[in-house]
Amino acid sequence: MNPLDLEFDLRHIWHPYTSMTHPLPTYPVISAAGVELELSDGRRLIDGMSSWWAAIHGYNHPVLNEAAKSQIDRMSHVMFGGITHPPAIELCQQLVAMTPAALECVFLADSGSVAVEVALKMALQYWQAKGEKRHRFLTLRHGYHGDTFGAMSVCDPDNSMHNLYKGYLPNHLFADVPQSRFEGEWQPEDITSFRQLLLQHHNEIAAVILEPIVQGAGGMRIYHPEYLRQVRKLCDEYQILLIADEIATGFGRTGKLFACEHAQIEPDILCLGKALTGGYMTLSATLTTRHVAETISQGEAGCFMHGPTFMGNPLACAVASANLKLLSDNQWQQRTQSIESQLKAELLPLKSHTTVEDVRVLGAIGVVEMKQPVDMASLQRRFVQHGVWIRPFGRLIYLMPPYITRSEQLSKLTNAINDVII
Ligand code: PMP
Repeated sequence: MNPLDLEFDLRHIWHPYTSMTHPLPTYPVISAAGVELELSDGRRLIDGMSSWWAAIHGYNHPVLNEAAKSQIDRMSHVMFGGITHPPAIELCQQLVAMTPAALECVFLADSGSVAVEVALKMALQYWQAKGEKRHRFLTLRHGYHGDTFGAMSVCDPDNSMHNLYKGYLPNHLFADVPQSRFEGEWQPEDITSFRQLLLQHHNEIAAVILEPIVQGAGGMRIYHPEYLRQVRKLCDEYQILLIADEIATGFGRTGKLFACEHAQIEPDILCLGKALTGGYMTLSATLTTRHVAETISQGEAGCFMHGPTFMGNPLACAVASANLKLLSDNQWQQRTQSIESQLKAELLPLKSHTTVEDVRVLGAIGVVEMKQPVDMASLQRRFVQHGVWIRPFGRLIYLMPPYITRSEQLSKLTNAINDVII
């Protein structure tokens, strides 16, 4: 057996969003440390992706390694039905303390998509318990919430998933995306479409679900905080639950601990994932207010109907707990602020380039939107030649580096983007 058999990989192993007949190339990584990925041929790449928003403190972190090792020596897993354990309690104490005060009850699940499924189910059970059959969700165009069925049904309706799964997905409501930019002027007409949908359908809507401030995989759009404030106000007016999907934006990525803070609003349900374990393993959390949790618990079922096998996995909880301690100790705010200033200085000038449609930066996120779709495979090859790991998609080339990225490492990433778009 050859563990570096790339032919086997191509022929037998699915990768995210790839084909089995025409797979895109893959690069064998044999180790990672700090902000570098090591390829099997010895080349080292500076990582600009944090493994899709997750590895905020970089790879192979001694504190996180130690947390995993010492937990393994106690127990890797034990069922959560009828059993509890210190890693889950400690993690949930931290989550309750660091999120808005009203969010008190935590559901631990396996991945971001499952956290979204849990949030949607909670909203449905909440209304059922109140004796109302509400079955629709209101969300935004260009949203992305995951790949499972419930999550898919609230993703942008114009991307291929909705066409592909027509007839299988419930029919939810999609408001136009706000056009007001994060740092631009607020255009009051931005909320019109959302308000109209709410007005027309509020009796059938169980909850609003959205990605606060930054829409990730659906287009890397960054919108005005006033939009979020207006959404919260309208949800209050019509007594509709607001679900904030902070799976990508949570834990400091946008320059605030949670993106909702940019608008000083609090959701009724909050989904967290990705950076929760510092990118070590999969774990997510859905938090609710006590009112939501108690209402669900007083419903016909008398409980919330979800309970995955690996719920509250002790190994993941122990690492997540160490990760959150690291976050609170290590000046994430200062670091994301200096990444933001540098990304602005080094990426915003690319706006004048004829092939570039737009450049936007918020916190430790930098996005270069091209006028034409990029050729992912060839661009990726060129990035690897430049010694960086950047994975573009569609018309977007974007960076969300680990917070520990040093200035010269960040410049290597932005220089690579500069070089490939010429
Ligand atoms: N919500 C958002 C905002 C996301 O960015 C993602 C992942 N890209 C998900 C949900 C789904 O998370 P996972 O891939 O862990 O299922």
